[in-house]
Amino acid sequence: MKSYDLIIVGAGPAGMSAAIAASEEDIKILLLDGSDKIGKKILVTGNGKCNLTNSYQDIACYRTETPDKVLGVLNLFGPSKTAGFFRDLGILTRDKNGYIYPYNEQASTVRDAFESFIRGNKNITVRTGCHVDKILPLREGFRIITGTGNYVSTAVILTTGGYAGPGNDSDGTGFGLAGCMGHRLIPTYPALTALKSSAPFLKKVRGVRNQANISLLIDEEPLYSESGELQWTDYGISGVAVFQLSRYAVIALEEGRSVSLSLDFLREMDRNQLYEYLYSQIRNCSYKDAGEILKGFLPEKLTPVVLREAHLSTHDNLIQVDADKLQDLVSAIKSFPLRINGYMGYEKAQVTRGGIPFNEVTDHLESILHTGLYFAGEILDVDGTCGGYNLQWAFSSGNVSGKAAAEYIRKNKET
Ligand SMILES: Cc1cc2nc3c(=O)[nH]c(=O)nc-3n(C[C@H](O)[C@H](O)[C@H](O)COP(=O)(O)OP(=O)(O)OC[C@H]3O[C@@H](n4cnc5c(N)ncnc54)[C@H](O)[C@@H]3O)c2cc1C
Repeated sequence: MKSYDLIIVGAGPAGMSAAIAASEEDIKILLLDGSDKIGKKILVTGNGKCNLTNSYQDIACYRTETPDKVLGVLNLFGPSKTAGFFRDLGILTRDKNGYIYPYNEQASTVRDAFESFIRGNKNITVRTGCHVDKILPLREGFRIITGTGNYVSTAVILTTGGYAGPGNDSDGTGFGLAGCMGHRLIPTYPALTALKSSAPFLKKVRGVRNQANISLLIDEEPLYSESGELQWTDYGISGVAVFQLSRYAVIALEEGRSVSLSLDFLREMDRNQLYEYLYSQIRNCSYKDAGEILKGFLPEKLTPVVLREAHLSTHDNLIQVDADKLQDLVSAIKSFPLRINGYMGYEKAQVTRGGIPFNEVTDHLESILHTGLYFAGEILDVDGTCGGYNLQWAFSSGNVSGKAAAEYIRKNKET
């Protein structure tokens, strides 16, 4: 049975970062992945452009039950060290309103740079097409059981990701591997995903995109809000702002609570300003029907839907409506209600909420149950908001766990 100092299970961004960090010590590292290629998921990130990180950092961008632990890891290896790391790999970056991308905006460049560094590193051996079925903690070290052979190692880093992503190999088996070693699991759900509605008008507005402020109401109480582009689909609603709120909507739906959105289609005006604007349009442009007035700021396909909410139709001439009716129209524009009754699953989600709890790992991400076992990346209980925070977490936690595992191995050899 082949023996290594360190075996890293899962060669995503977290596993590859861990391997690179650990390889600074002169130790034998095996990087295993069930997929045919390392770092495959990076290719689909940021719509193929790979949003690596973000110059704006706040712990609120990392959702977890244990923010202190996450912050501690980010303080050890944060975005500025990430930028240096990529520069060393030969990847220059581009800042687009704080969102950091590879300079050429090609995700494949990032994956390829990881692979070429790793393949050229004498301390790291890579095995792809090697699915890990079980990890057995031994009296000293670990036995790794795979579909294509077994290995032993002094230390293991589990970086198998979560469930999220289209057609990739992140099948959540890592949670089972950790569970067999006694670790608990904070319940997992899709996060950064689209929301479903059965509103009858959806087929008519599918494909429409418009700016809005979205408030998420749980049991009729507004709890979270986000602004950005909405993308209407035939099943519901999508877009970055919806993704950001989806985590809380999904949890509430799973708890059987009522979930709805209140959409503000003209956030630049308050209710009074909008009332005055509509009033003056109606007086000054009496030749316009209701549809024409709303077309001044709403996508055409959305105007009949908004008017219907106020019990009006596109061909109505608003000169005849009274103040109450005009207030109804203001409400339809400023707080359009959309009942949510479901969410898109992991194949459409970008990240998994939940995972291995941080109170079962040390500040350097070592298991408190098994010395020499480490975790990094999405397998842990943290899900970032859109904007590069999930990859940042993968790089940060990969680096911190990789360094810690290498140091553990060095000390182990010295004794
Ligand atoms: C469509 C999409 C777009 C995204 N865009 C962005 C973005 O622009 N910016 C951002 O910050 N985040 C983005 N994310 C999220 C980000 O990609 C993930 O959070 C990140 O890849 C997690 O890294 P990881 O290494 O922990 O896990 P993963 O990337 O999931 O890697 C885990 C690896 O482990 C392997 N594996 C799993 N189980 C086993 C096993 N039993 N044996 C062997 N190997 C195994 C898998 O094959 C995989 O290669 C996006 C995600 C998706 C799905």
